[in-house]
Amino acid sequence: MAMVYFTSSRAPVEEPERWYQPQLSAINKLERLLERSGILDDIERGDQVALKTHFGVRGTTKPLRSVFIRKVAQMVKTKGGEPFVTETTGLGMTRERCFATGKIEAAEENGYTSQTLSAPIIIADGLKGFDCVEVCIDGAQLKKVYVAKHIAEADKVISLAHFKGHMNSGFGGALKNIGVGCVAKTSKYDSHIYDPPSINDLCDGCGACVKICPVDAIREWKVDIEKCIRCQGCAEVCEKGAISVKWTSPKDLSERFVDCAKAVLDLVGRENLRYVNFLLDITPHCDCCPFSDNAIVPDLGILASEDILAIDKAAVDMVNKAPILADSMAKKAKDKFHGMYGWTHSSYQLNAAKKLGLGSMKYEIIKVE
Ligand code: SF4
Ligand code: SF4
Repeated sequence: MAMVYFTSSRAPVEEPERWYQPQLSAINKLERLLERSGILDDIERGDQVALKTHFGVRGTTKPLRSVFIRKVAQMVKTKGGEPFVTETTGLGMTRERCFATGKIEAAEENGYTSQTLSAPIIIADGLKGFDCVEVCIDGAQLKKVYVAKHIAEADKVISLAHFKGHMNSGFGGALKNIGVGCVAKTSKYDSHIYDPPSINDLCDGCGACVKICPVDAIREWKVDIEKCIRCQGCAEVCEKGAISVKWTSPKDLSERFVDCAKAVLDLVGRENLRYVNFLLDITPHCDCCPFSDNAIVPDLGILASEDILAIDKAAVDMVNKAPILADSMAKKAKDKFHGMYGWTHSSYQLNAAKKLGLGSMKYEIIKVE
């Protein structure tokens, strides 16, 4: 049975004249949650501590607020650790989010800077997303995973996940924050796309794919799959539809990024990873979308745990028990994530993590006021 600590987002003021109660602030509640859960207790003086979050993209308006990350960074410093706030580049080679420069620009636009976070921002997989450490695993679908270099080098990793829905994996929480967010571009490709790219008869020889390929893997209109590092750049630039890629099904995507999460846990060491899920602004889509829809359920609170599976299971259960909000994408359904999209289900990730032994489906909620 895993312990999952919970603090509610409610700030009940019983008497209007007693409005000045800073202890009701969610930031102060987060501090009490982290202290009570003890998830920062193993941090030692000089530890390089990665705070893994998601900065959103240009247009996202409801990613995790920087004040929460700042509080965690300050607490890490009090323990003697040296925090840095981190993210990885997105799949592809053409959009801003595909490069560290674009990621940092979007982060700044969304309010994340070294000043607001009280810690520097470091993009964990380097300028273009290929800085990584190869890990061999016996995953359900993947046997090799490319963990982002600065995650691999960190002494401790704390996942700070904005918990929300996701159109393919059902939801985004700790498993996704680690399994997608802590790996380099090649592993993002392997999670999202079945095979290396191939060129079909629609090719007119324009050369755009040859020009963008970072490893010179396209010769005479054929992809050398031994050389290809699976960045998706060629498919993005081909205007003729001559480069076919087949996107993974929601279940396979979930199983594959849970495999990636296993690789991160194996490499960094389970005892060095801790998790916080923020059940605030629970939007139906992930923070990679250039917009933020209305929340599907009310704000619920914040969870903290040492168990990557238990914390996501607890978050899914809480969302499924919560009332749906009017004028939102939510539908009445046993699994709200399935109800919204039809083709995906929250059980895909959870069952995959259980099969790999990443944590416990059974948990006890410990309330922290
Ligand atoms: S970008 Fe497309 S059309 Fe142009 S050479 Fe490459 S595969 Fe052919
Ligand atoms: S061939 Fe491979 S490495 Fe080259 S652009 Fe395409 S996906 Fe990227």
